[in-house]
Amino acid sequence: MMQLRCPWCGERAASEFHCGGTTGITRPPLACDDSTWSRYLFFRTNPKGGHGERWRHTFGCGMWFNVWRDTVTHEVKAVYGITEPPPPQGAP
Ligand SMILES: [Zn+2]
Repeated sequence: MMQLRCPWCGERAASEFHCGGTTGITRPPLACDDSTWSRYLFFRTNPKGGHGERWRHTFGCGMWFNVWRDTVTHEVKAVYGITEPPPPQGAP
């Protein structure tokens, strides 16, 4: 079973968490064209390997945090704050 380490609660089963999707996406200005806006809303990468994701400890403390995870092995490489940049080893 996949385990995640909540920065506040420690190691827990992945069933206590919900994935909020890709992290680190910058919102374009409101005056952008429709193509840019639709790419922001609907298009995400689906990498094989390292991927930055937002997770919420839904059935615990309720806090959001970022995880850098290998999508092939599910190995969690890093856990970091929601406003922090990914650690150097988490760079794509
Ligand atoms: Zn927690």
